[in-house]
Amino acid sequence: MFGLFKKSSEGDQAVATVGKPDISREKSAELYEKSKTYFPGGVNSPVRAFKSVYGTPLFIEKGDGPYLWDVDGNKFVDFCASWGPLILGHNNAKIREKVAETALKGMTFGAPTAIENELAELILKNNKYIQKLRFVSSGTEAVMSAIRLARGYTKRDKILKFEGCYHGHIDSLLVKAGSGLVTFGETTSAGVPESFAKETIVVPLNNIDAVKQAFAEHKDQIAAIIIEPVPANNGLLLQEPEFLQALRDITTKEKALLIFDEVISGFRIGFEGAAGYYQIQPDIITYGKIIGGGMPVGAYGSSVEIMSNVSPEGPVYQAGTLSGNPIAMAAGIAQLTELSRSGFYKELNNKTHEFAESIQRFASARNYKIRVQQIGSIFWIAFTDLEKIQSAEQIDPTSMEKFKIFHRECLNRGIYFGPSGYEVGFISSAHTKIDLEVAKRAIFEALDLAFKK
Ligand SMILES: *Cc1c(COP(=O)(O)O)cnc(C)c1O
Repeated sequence: MFGLFKKSSEGDQAVATVGKPDISREKSAELYEKSKTYFPGGVNSPVRAFKSVYGTPLFIEKGDGPYLWDVDGNKFVDFCASWGPLILGHNNAKIREKVAETALKGMTFGAPTAIENELAELILKNNKYIQKLRFVSSGTEAVMSAIRLARGYTKRDKILKFEGCYHGHIDSLLVKAGSGLVTFGETTSAGVPESFAKETIVVPLNNIDAVKQAFAEHKDQIAAIIIEPVPANNGLLLQEPEFLQALRDITTKEKALLIFDEVISGFRIGFEGAAGYYQIQPDIITYGKIIGGGMPVGAYGSSVEIMSNVSPEGPVYQAGTLSGNPIAMAAGIAQLTELSRSGFYKELNNKTHEFAESIQRFASARNYKIRVQQIGSIFWIAFTDLEKIQSAEQIDPTSMEKFKIFHRECLNRGIYFGPSGYEVGFISSAHTKIDLEVAKRAIFEALDLAFKK
């Protein structure tokens, strides 16, 4: 998600916009000049740097509900949601109050607290796909730990992943497919040893034959298949339920584990995430983003039996100074409590579906080559004339030129999307019908301009 696989077009200056003047970015630009002297590229996570869109990054002053304000006083309807965590919108009062109340007692103790039990109970009571879990501090850490657990449990080394899925910045998963259907990973980052990449097999999404071939070629060596069951870091590449079920079947047959990386989809497309949506029981599930209510939390969970392999119960080591941090737990409890109320997802998902449909209708009526893909409260506007996009190679990199214009025109009209056409949009319970109507009007104008010639 953080721009690693994205085509970048560095050095693009904002070009004159059509119909509306560019928003003022004076203070943001000033802060960016400073931040470039402090941080590589001026940022603490790459995609924030606006390398794939026009202009310099906006520095954010505050958020409230569905809105963001930058330091120049521009107001936006936000569809980035801090990349997913903010399913209740910004600055939710219940989360804020629970965090404030908890912070009065101190920040961290490095010893067990009741509040960890409280969040665990809330999750486990409402999610039949895991029986035990371990809290960590990010999605990356959750996946890294899940991979170690899978290797420790199966006593095998190789991991099978899919081209177009992102699993955090873990050495052995920063790999892409080479040429050929089933390949060892080629590193996508400097600093990843070839030998690590060799432990990862990369195959295309939506292609069960490639998975079968991988198992045939690496008999008894594959510890786990890891997949984003709702791939949402390289566009939104929705998979057929039959494909996910086939992964379940083949891993069971081959005595490998199936890991669902639900760092985005967990608590997003339903309280039980993609496992619940597709009713498929994976062996290990990883969580992040929403689970922490905007604070740094990740988790991995599994059966009692598999989790008994984690230290101190078992031989798979995994630890964290700030794991289960009380302030972060407090934010998670407040957020997940809201999500566990009956009807929460139905309303949110319906709202998103209507929103996506009306953008599609508008584009289709004008013959704009757009496909709006949507699941739960996630949507992605693909600049394509394909009916469905289900694998990474179906995304045409040149279509990102249109996204760049679209992104700029949306910003100029008070709509904030993540600064890359490979990123999905999120709708929160704080987005009202009126916010979405206003956003649609701006999106329609931006599409008109992107397809002008
Ligand atoms: C965001 C994400 C990660 C990494 O989580 P961080 O908290 O950024 O480390 C891993 N997997 C998926 C599917 C994600 O979307």
